[in-house]
Amino acid sequence: MTDQKKVVEILLNMAKVLEENKEFLTDLDNVIGDGDHGINMARGFAEVEKQAEGLEQKDIGNILKTVGMTLVSKVGGSSGPLYGTAFMKAGMTIGAKNEIDMADFLGALEVGIEGVKARGKSTTGEKTMLDAMVPALDAMKEQQAAGADAKQVLEAGVQAAEAGVEATKPMVATKGRASYLGERSVGHQDPGATSFTLMLKEIAKAY
Ligand code: ADP
Ligand code: MG
Repeated sequence: MTDQKKVVEILLNMAKVLEENKEFLTDLDNVIGDGDHGINMARGFAEVEKQAEGLEQKDIGNILKTVGMTLVSKVGGSSGPLYGTAFMKAGMTIGAKNEIDMADFLGALEVGIEGVKARGKSTTGEKTMLDAMVPALDAMKEQQAAGADAKQVLEAGVQAAEAGVEATKPMVATKGRASYLGERSVGHQDPGATSFTLMLKEIAKAY
């Protein structure tokens, strides 16, 4: 089981890793976008970090909803609204709980991913964050159904997300700014798929 304190701890670790990878993510976005993905993600999670003390007083659903609203309002670019929607939908799904288990997490991630698809009018195979999110969720659901423990489930998710990032390299971008490049986007990994994988790794490290 995971309580509010641990959720906030994980969010702070995400803020740290996104700050550490600000340049890396921005460099990736420089190649196929406008070079701001690292800046966007680091800025959004720096705001989350500022709210950390207040967050611990909330239930887990409200923590995630607050993070989502912060990302939507503080992050320019498409990733803010997309990740923001994912966190808000995940928070609504979890609701007023002070503890969650793996089934709650996977259910919330699933609804969050549906939120990204709806908001982004996107699906897998278009060289976006979804190409890491969807395979990660599928792998975790499979492990969960097979009776694996939280650590094994999350490690399978990280592996699938990493493979998903690799799989974005040969893809032609058809959504977001990278789609302006068309065929020239081939050969480069997607920044958003990369940032999702970094965030999922921080969740996995906590178990
Ligand atoms: P912007 O593209 O507005 O500059 P960012 O650079 O912060 O925003 O984020 C770019 C990332 O957002 C991409 O790498 C991709 O993963 C993701 N993305 C962009 N458009 C979509 C979409 N329609 N659906 C899903 N993900 C998207
Ligand atoms: Mg960008």
